Amino acid sequence: MLTEGMIQTHPETRRRIIHVDMDAFYAAVEMRENPSLRGRPLVVGGDPDRRGTVATCNYEARKFGIHSAMASKTARKRCPEVLFLKPRFELYREVSAEIREIFLDYTNRVEPLSLDEAYLDVTRCRLFGGVATDIARDIKRRILEHTKLTASAGVSYNKFLAKIASDMNKPDGLTVIRPHEAKALVSQLPIGKFFGVGPVTEKRMKELGIHTGADLQRWSLSRLQPLFGKHAEYYHQAAFGIDVREVEPNRPRKSVGSETTFDKDLSDLEEMLSQLRLRAREVALNLQERQLTGKTVTVKVKFSDFTQVTRSYSFNHPLTSYRQMIEVLPQLLHHAVSVRSRAVRLLGVTVSNLVRSDEETIAQRSLL
Ligand SMILES: [Mg+2]
Repeated sequence: MLTEGMIQTHPETRRRIIHVDMDAFYAAVEMRENPSLRGRPLVVGGDPDRRGTVATCNYEARKFGIHSAMASKTARKRCPEVLFLKPRFELYREVSAEIREIFLDYTNRVEPLSLDEAYLDVTRCRLFGGVATDIARDIKRRILEHTKLTASAGVSYNKFLAKIASDMNKPDGLTVIRPHEAKALVSQLPIGKFFGVGPVTEKRMKELGIHTGADLQRWSLSRLQPLFGKHAEYYHQAAFGIDVREVEPNRPRKSVGSETTFDKDLSDLEEMLSQLRLRAREVALNLQERQLTGKTVTVKVKFSDFTQVTRSYSFNHPLTSYRQMIEVLPQLLHHAVSVRSRAVRLLGVTVSNLVRSDEETIAQRSLL
């Protein structure tokens, strides 16, 4: 049987996990793109005249009792003036990638769950003296600064509790669950909120009289096992605030990049070039901080119709200066935009084929 003392000394409590969840993500992106939508009840996804369900709705719509996964028809019944928008996944993916880049500045151990949420293991992050709450606050600040969108963050020592925490003070929340708080908090948690407990398991648990974490705590592992098989151990541990699942990053850093979406599309080449130089400067700074350099420079151009073109140039040796990087930009930009004559909504610069700059004697000097 697990006891409270065991939980607080359990090696599991040494990790620092952050769960970041964007607030009403698709709807928030749509409101950012079109400020006249602000203040109006809004649903993204679904069509009230046909079948279909709400993908995301903003907080104004939630006031009417509308929520995600609700049938569109029900949503319109609850609020006849609700506005239905077609989802623009390419746009959401673009914003999601920008947010991902921010995460990677704190740790490589990032596990995205969807376009709008991710787990970060910041146990080894030394920024802010390694204080996970301060790291989470800074991540939220940078997301807001860079994307004009708010996120809610949960901080704890495992994935289960970090995710519970991020949901506790939405929107724009920052919630911490500390090891000594975990048992009491989990005791009160409705069983349907436990990770891995879907509607079917929830029904089953309730039939057994398990409605909350406290109820689950009273069941021994040997009693749970015949009922829940291989999941029994997870449920048993979770009841005491223990979750040994690792944050599983699905992408090592292969490049360092910076990109920006403009408020107004650009059509002047000189203006584009100066924007690219700003991006390149940021990339150079970023590489320097990480003691990295690379051989390949890529320019990315996204047009107003969301089509995208990338053009790359690879040097024989890793870059040794910022100047080298900006020298190839005019040519790359020219090749990228010559195929289209449309206005440009996004520009980015990426350096890939990375090597550690301290392993390259030639790159010992600063990139700047
Ligand atoms: Mg979300």
